[in-house]
Amino acid sequence: MKIIYVFVLLALSGQATSIVQAQEMRLPQDPCGYPDTTSNEYRSAALLNWGYGYDSLKADLARWIWSPYVQIDSVGASVQNRALYMITIQADGIPALQRKRVWIHARTHPNEVQGTWVTNQIIEILLGGSDLARVLRDSCIFTIMPMYNPDGVELSFPRENANGVDIESNWAAIPGEPEVQVLRGVFTQFMSGTNPIEVALNMHSALACRRYFVYHDASGTSPLFAALEQEFIGAVQSYFPGGIEPYTYFVSWTGGAPTVYPESWFWYNHQESVMALTYEDKNCAAAGGYDSTAFAMLRGIADYLHVAGPITSSPETSAFPDAIAFAQNFPNPFNPSTTFTFKLPHNALASLKVYDILGRQMAVLAEGGHSAGPHTVVWNALGLSSGIYFARFVVTSIEGRPMYSKINRLVLMK
Ligand SMILES: [Zn+2]
Repeated sequence: MKIIYVFVLLALSGQATSIVQAQEMRLPQDPCGYPDTTSNEYRSAALLNWGYGYDSLKADLARWIWSPYVQIDSVGASVQNRALYMITIQADGIPALQRKRVWIHARTHPNEVQGTWVTNQIIEILLGGSDLARVLRDSCIFTIMPMYNPDGVELSFPRENANGVDIESNWAAIPGEPEVQVLRGVFTQFMSGTNPIEVALNMHSALACRRYFVYHDASGTSPLFAALEQEFIGAVQSYFPGGIEPYTYFVSWTGGAPTVYPESWFWYNHQESVMALTYEDKNCAAAGGYDSTAFAMLRGIADYLHVAGPITSSPETSAFPDAIAFAQNFPNPFNPSTTFTFKLPHNALASLKVYDILGRQMAVLAEGGHSAGPHTVVWNALGLSSGIYFARFVVTSIEGRPMYSKINRLVLMK
């Protein structure tokens, strides 16, 4: 998304000194976005909200809310009065003072849906059963806004909100667009609270067909911040070798810090205390690997924040012989019966329930104390209609501590 800007010295009349003011100058080809917004391919993709619209988000929210680690809030509204949803992910029972806050927002520019895919993978990993997820849930608070520009998404705009304004570069405006006001308000509130934001990621995608962070040069920040950026980007990059570019790939702010971006807001208000960066995924046919990118980001965040606990290198539970596991039911799609398997490393309370797409409970397949080892449950859906169902599996320790939660999607086809 980054725009090239130039610095001009403005000598203000009535003032003894001149001030430096950043002005932006847009180049014909922006570093983020889609190559040709006039093509038929682009138009048809736009009509489908690039494959992920506001309803898609609401369906995912309806699924994520089942996790014991999730809280969902509407923190404000867009120009057309769509809720701006914020997801908070953290484990219960850890003192607030020990937690570090990570902020992520995506979909500022509606056509950059790849930023959404990475963000959603981050959420899925954080809600899963991996060691990495457990460590991060215990030591951090993740606050994530998956769709910052829902109006633009629904209106099939490539970059703007309903007022036709690019809310990526509206941060110096007073009062600014409603979406910008909401985000600034949330940031201000967090930064003055118990758990200020320490890492803030702004998720985009670029026609460059590379994955990279927009690095801020020391001349626009500080030598210390540049060193921290190199540490952060280097850590993330090390967990996806060859997938994410080094910090030298895209260097910005070489002439000073602009005022118009979210990262500008963090820099001018909080300097080195917030690692605020834009991430650009691939916006091209070769895009993909979102799970690898999401894993690398989370692992890099864990390293950067020096969070405690052993973390193995795999995002999946299979790497942990003692892990809780809940497999996809088989067969799926099914008619009329399907089999669920789950595994417990030690005695625990396990619950397996099936819901329909409206969240109504359809069946209780397991509930209460279960012994260590593998368990198998068969569900017969005779009498139910064809469609999508959700199986929610939750494990709680004997002492009542939430340990694991996963939701599988089932398709009954008659
Ligand atoms: Zn963008």
